[in-house]
Amino acid sequence: MIAFQQVKKSFSVNGKRLPILDVPQWTVAAGEQIALIGPSGSGKSTLLHLMSGVIPVDSGAISVAGHAIHQYSEAQRDRYRAQVVGYIFQDFHLISSLTARQNVELVLPASWGKKQRREEVDRWFAAVGLQDRQGHVPGQLSRGQQQRVAMIRALIGNAPLILADEPTGSLDFATAHEVMALLLSLCEQEQRTLVTVTHDLQLAELYPKTVHIRELNDLARSSDDPAPSASKGEKVG
Ligand code: ADP
Ligand code: MG
Repeated sequence: MIAFQQVKKSFSVNGKRLPILDVPQWTVAAGEQIALIGPSGSGKSTLLHLMSGVIPVDSGAISVAGHAIHQYSEAQRDRYRAQVVGYIFQDFHLISSLTARQNVELVLPASWGKKQRREEVDRWFAAVGLQDRQGHVPGQLSRGQQQRVAMIRALIGNAPLILADEPTGSLDFATAHEVMALLLSLCEQEQRTLVTVTHDLQLAELYPKTVHIRELNDLARSSDDPAPSASKGEKVG
C-alpha cells in the first residue's frame, strides 16, 4: 500500500537546511493499522504530510496505492489526495457555520447521485452513533462528537488510506479512548489502511502494530544515540 525508498526531507529555515527525515525504507501493507509514536518535533507530522502529498520529498521515492507520488506535480498530488487519502486532524477542521451533515456533504464524490448521497451520509452518521446530531453545528457538539464527524468526512468517500495526526490529542482520556477505538474498528471493518500519530502509549497499544519514528528515521536514530564519545551534530565524510 505504502512504500518509502531513501526518502529525505529537510526544511529551509533562515537560509539553512534543516534535515528532518531520512527514511531508507518503510512499507505498510494494505489494510494494516499502525500507531506511529515518537517525541515532539521528530517528524511524525512531516511523514504524514509526505504520504498525503501535501509536501514533496527532497529525494527518494514514495508510492501509495500504485501512485508514484514523488514523480507527481502539485496538481497531480492534489488529485491523488482527493482520491486516495482521508485525513483526520487533531483539531477537527470542521466548518463552524455548517451543520455536521453539511460538513460531510462537502466532501462527497461528485459522481454520487442524490439517493446514494443520502443513504451513505445516513449510514455513516449511524456508524459513529450521531444519527440524531446531523443538524447540529460544531459549536453544539462535544469535542468527541466533532471528531466523529471529522472521521465520517475522512472515511465516507472510500479513501483507501486514512491518516490521523494526533486525532485524540485534544480529548480527555475516556473520550480519546472511545474515539480511537471507534476509528480503529471502522477502518478494520472497511479494510482501510490507517496510520495514526499519537503520543499516548496506552492508545497506541490498541493498535495491532506500533512503529516508533526512530525505527524509520535515520536522523532520529542518530540524535537519540546515547554514545557520549560521538560528536553530535557532526557528520563524518
Ligand atoms: P512532530 O509531528 O513529530 O512533532 P513535525 O513533523 O511537525 O514533528 O516537525 C519536525 C521538525 O520539522 C520540527 O523541528 C519542526 O520545527 C520542523 N518543521 C516542520 N514543518 C516545518 C516547516 N514548514 N518549515 C520549517 N520547519 C518545519
Ligand atoms: Mg505533529
